[in-house]
Amino acid sequence: MSDETIFTQIVAGKIPSYTVYEDETTYAFLDANPLAPGHTLVIPKEPYERVNDMPPELAGDVFSTVSKITDAVERAVDAPASTIAINNGEEAGQEVPHVHCHIIPQFRDSTTKPVHALFTGAELSAEEMETIAETIRNTQ
Ligand code: AMP
Repeated sequence: MSDETIFTQIVAGKIPSYTVYEDETTYAFLDANPLAPGHTLVIPKEPYERVNDMPPELAGDVFSTVSKITDAVERAVDAPASTIAINNGEEAGQEVPHVHCHIIPQFRDSTTKPVHALFTGAELSAEEMETIAETIRNTQ
C-alpha cells in the first residue's frame, strides 16, 4: 500500500475535487481531465494500488458505489450508457497508483469505442485456453 497518493489527499480535503459521493470506505469525484462530461472516478479511501491488492470486501464496496452512482452520473449529463473501466497496473496505463474505477458516460453519436478497441486480439488454441483456465483455477 502506498501512503500519500494524490487521491488520498483528495479524500483528506487537502486537494479540492468535485465530490459526488462519499461513504465510510469509498469516495467518488469528477475526473479533472474528463474524457466526456460527467467522467467520474470511484476509489477506495485506503490507497491500495491495484484491484488485486484490495481485500475482496473493499473491492465489493467500490463496485457497490459504482453501481449506486452510475445512474445519477448518466442522468446528470443525459447519457444513455457509460464505459466502466479500471486501468489495473502501470502496463495497463494506470497513472495514479491508487485503485480508481472510471465511469465515462457514452452518447448516442459518440465516436468513442468499446474496450475491445484497445486490443488487437489473441489467437489461442483450445488446449492453450484450457491450460490458462486451469492455471487460473489453481492459483486463486
Ligand atoms: P489512470 O490513467 O487510470 O491512472 O487515470 C488517472 C486519472 O486521474 C486521469 O483520468 C486523471 O485525469 C485523473 N486525475 C489526476 N489527478 C486528478 C485530480 N487531482 N482530480 C481529479 N482527477 C485527477
